[in-house]
Amino acid sequence: MSLPPDFLFSQSNLQDFVDCPRRFELRYILKQPWPALQPEPVLEWEQSLLQGLRFHQLILQYLIGMPAEVLTQTIYDHKLQRWWNNFLADNPLGELPSERYPEFTLSSPFAGFRLIAKYDLIAVAPGKRIVIVDWKTGSPRTNPNSLRERIQSRLYPLLLVKAGHHINHGVVNPEQVEMIYWFAEKPSAPFCIQYNQTEYLKDREYITTLITKIASLQLGKFELTPDDRHCAFCNYQTLCNRGKQPGNLEDLEEESYQELEDKIQIDIDQIGAIQF
Ligand code: SF4
Repeated sequence: MSLPPDFLFSQSNLQDFVDCPRRFELRYILKQPWPALQPEPVLEWEQSLLQGLRFHQLILQYLIGMPAEVLTQTIYDHKLQRWWNNFLADNPLGELPSERYPEFTLSSPFAGFRLIAKYDLIAVAPGKRIVIVDWKTGSPRTNPNSLRERIQSRLYPLLLVKAGHHINHGVVNPEQVEMIYWFAEKPSAPFCIQYNQTEYLKDREYITTLITKIASLQLGKFELTPDDRHCAFCNYQTLCNRGKQPGNLEDLEEESYQELEDKIQIDIDQIGAIQF
């Protein structure tokens, strides 16, 4: 057992374990400081992080009542402006239930530890329909099928069923739950998941097995991924002697875009309270 009993399992750290057990060990158990950012050009990398963060902030500000015209005047970045224009034109909020919980965190005991998730938005019609919305700013090349297999697509609805009773005003039935990935670069093609009891049981089993496996591993037994594509944007390349060249954002494959999105989410989580 390498983990403290109060360890919080999230989509980010579980996805890290799935992608590379060694990355999980370095980042969350050994708490190895991240070396310098790897992708080149670094400025483009940093700009991607900031643009993703700012886009999430804009939607949050909009959801809590700031007028779109006022928010539009704060944007001086072409890509961000395009995403924002897409958001306003597509109006992905239009079909959602009216009770809205932006930047909402749920947590629940699970498999001897706790699960935690921070949702971009949960929209609720209590007792009827609950929609999880996730804003994606990555490449429109994102493969929907691979997206369904991401930990986020399993953990978010699972945890909502387990811990969302207070916003549903009663037990959450898996059949009530939908999850929507909305793509800022491709607003006309959101990826939607209709959850159900079968998927819930499968996801519960899968996440339980994953956590049990992680908890059973001793230090030093977390293996390096055999798939070095995961190394291309990993900050531990030098520690693992994997790849001398930093990744180039233009070479990102679909899976790597999801890793970039996860890193953006990590950065958002680490920034903490946002000042408006
Ligand atoms: S560089 Fe590769 S092997 Fe090392 S932690 Fe990162 S993903 Fe894993």
